[in-house]
Amino acid sequence: QLEETVYLEKLSVVGKMAAAIAHEIRNPLTTVRGLIQHMEADTEDKKLKQFSPLLLEELDRTNKIITDYLKLVKPSEMTYEKVDLNRVVNDTVELIKPIGSYHNVKIELREEDTFTVEADEQQLKQCIINLVNNGIEAIEQGKEEGVQQQEGLVSIIVDRGNEKSFAAISIVDNGRGMTEEEIEKIGLPFYTTKTKGTGLGTMITNRLVRNMGGKVQYESEFGRGTIARILLPAVKKQ
Ligand code: ADP
Ligand code: MG
Repeated sequence: QLEETVYLEKLSVVGKMAAAIAHEIRNPLTTVRGLIQHMEADTEDKKLKQFSPLLLEELDRTNKIITDYLKLVKPSEMTYEKVDLNRVVNDTVELIKPIGSYHNVKIELREEDTFTVEADEQQLKQCIINLVNNGIEAIEQGKEEGVQQQEGLVSIIVDRGNEKSFAAISIVDNGRGMTEEEIEKIGLPFYTTKTKGTGLGTMITNRLVRNMGGKVQYESEFGRGTIARILLPAVKKQ
């Protein structure tokens, strides 16, 4: 299948790059970080005092990018278990509400159905957080670009979705949305429209959800918003 081939190709490119650079870069980064902290603690130098937080922040950002790459090549051990999807989604929403209020975005949860799914709880949480973060960032982009003026709202909906025997977690935002061209590029390695983006969040999410036997779908309209939907096979209730 063409789609599958392209997907695997995308992975191997990133995989090779990541494997080659990650270890080589991480160690010196850790050393530099330690040295900056050490110098900052001892010094009277105003410039060093002033700029070291910025240096540390940039180093941490670099480290995060590398960590994201590593997640792609060497995903942490998966433990698939039967989990109560509604509980996992509720826990995740509680986790992200503060991020929402910090960005003036309301986070709302609607549960129309209850499901048990076979999944890795931590990774499922990570996927939902990635998509909600994208929703929040799309709302900020929409305001900056003046294409969307409404109050920021991200709704998380748990229902049967549009596919039989699947559980759907839809993350609906009223942010800037995407044009058709943009939707096509989503999930490509390094594709980002953000100055501080990595262009890896959706790719990692796609991969984790696929490993759980599910898939991620997008619907979007420029100037209106986006629906990112995680579909997972529902475990039949006894
Ligand atoms: P990053 O968030 O670091 O840019 P992602 O892989 O998470 O990387 O997303 C890639 C790109 O896809 C984003 O930069 C943005 O252009 C687009 N995108 C993802 N989610 C949304 C969304 N909810 N609304 C609009 N655009 C989105
Ligand atoms: Mg992202």
